[in-house]
Amino acid sequence: MKNVFKSWGNLNKNTLSNFVYLNKNLTIKVNDIEQYTTFGNGRSYGDVCLTDRGLYVDTSNNNKILKLNKKKKLLNVQSGVMLSKIFEYLTDSDLTLPVVPGTKFITVGGAIANDIHGKNHHYSGTFGNHIESIKILRSDGKIYTCSKRANKDLFYATIGGLGLTGIIIEATLRLVKHYSDFVNVKNIPFYSIGEFIDLSSKYKNYKYIVGWLDVTSKKNRGILELANFSNITNRVKKNKINKCLFSFPNLRFNILFKPIIILFNYLYFYNLSLFKKNITLSFFKYHFPLDSIKSWNNMYGSNGFYQLQFSFPKESAKFHIDYILNFFKNLKQNSFLTTIKCFGIYDSPGMLGFVQSHHITVALDFINTKPSVNSIKVIQDYVADNNGRIYPAKDALMSKSNFYKIYGEKTIQKFLKHKDKNSYSLLYERLF
Ligand SMILES: Cc1cc2nc3c(=O)[nH]c(=O)nc-3n(C[C@H](O)[C@H](O)[C@H](O)COP(=O)(O)OP(=O)(O)OC[C@H]3O[C@@H](n4cnc5c(N)ncnc54)[C@H](O)[C@@H]3O)c2cc1C
Repeated sequence: MKNVFKSWGNLNKNTLSNFVYLNKNLTIKVNDIEQYTTFGNGRSYGDVCLTDRGLYVDTSNNNKILKLNKKKKLLNVQSGVMLSKIFEYLTDSDLTLPVVPGTKFITVGGAIANDIHGKNHHYSGTFGNHIESIKILRSDGKIYTCSKRANKDLFYATIGGLGLTGIIIEATLRLVKHYSDFVNVKNIPFYSIGEFIDLSSKYKNYKYIVGWLDVTSKKNRGILELANFSNITNRVKKNKINKCLFSFPNLRFNILFKPIIILFNYLYFYNLSLFKKNITLSFFKYHFPLDSIKSWNNMYGSNGFYQLQFSFPKESAKFHIDYILNFFKNLKQNSFLTTIKCFGIYDSPGMLGFVQSHHITVALDFINTKPSVNSIKVIQDYVADNNGRIYPAKDALMSKSNFYKIYGEKTIQKFLKHKDKNSYSLLYERLF
């Protein structure tokens, strides 16, 4: 049983502990309660899953895998099931999820509500591109089945709908062929954002592409991490898929001092560019490298941290990303972990989805201090003024005016027609 509802950035301390579990009886409860916030597994960094009023609807008990249709490659699950459980379940088949983020400890409900993306966006689009249907419980007590054909507008409002269109109780997901539990990884060093963009397009035939950036270096160097399925047919044992090596203790103080950040980035760059040019990793280690350290977010201490994820259209991305990285560098504000990805041809199918085709996205982590908060806000204004986008799943600071500038008054008004009457979140209060 949860008694503290937190998001991954450990930022908001004054949220509620009132909650109900999502179960059959909730149909009645949702009519009675004033406001509710649906909670998946709190892997969002900011305040999209948090509330200070009403109650939480905790989906963690609504976690059954209902049916696998191998022939049609369809998987029917309850919304609180985590991707980690789906992977264990699928070890007996040659099927997998087409899109996964950088952690498998998220729920299907959370993946839909933020329309998450992975390292294969150029091949497969977002999570929302692979949903057959969704069942949503709304404040009128009714359950709506939504798909491309039925309740179409509610379907597209719910994908990337920030948990505001109702409580997702079930989803049917389309799976794809899983060729191996192992991937062959090729690590290529690059020495500028321009070079990263060129290399990503040169190697676009690789199934998975992601860049890691050393923003402490003078030139914004990094590693392009390319991967394809290997020919290894052995399966990773079920009990190894979700194994954590250790759990990070609950520290009061941040341990990521500047010299540690510089040293870590330096060693990571040379380790991968010199000694790990070509390696074979398990599918799970490649996609979810941080999952083996439980509660790694405690490294940032009790004040927590912010993640800033933004994107720009490809043609202007190099200029703007350089500008932003240099802005933080000049202020000596170092991001510990920085990633960069190129989106392919697919827009998010969600009305309010973050992902736009042919954008380049960067994610930076900053310890929660007054100066870093000020800088993030300055950069968010810059992103909004220059045709960029900010990812709400990671955000806790975007202003309402920037949100409207980025997502557009018309789109937001269209989305609001599908908002469920009693849904609420701190993000909703801040942005809408
Ligand atoms: C280490 C790490 C790596 C990450 N990498 C990526 C990445 O590569 N790409 C990416 O896109 N994201 C990434 N994320 C972000 C993460 O995938 C999303 O924030 C995801 O939505 C979290 O899911 P959750 O189940 O924890 O949901 P929560 O964080 O609890 O909730 C997220 C949203 O979903 C809503 N919600 C949850 N369940 C339901 C439901 N049943 N019905 C209706 N609404 C619901 C909540 O109200 C909230 O609005 C990463 C996060 C971490 C910690």
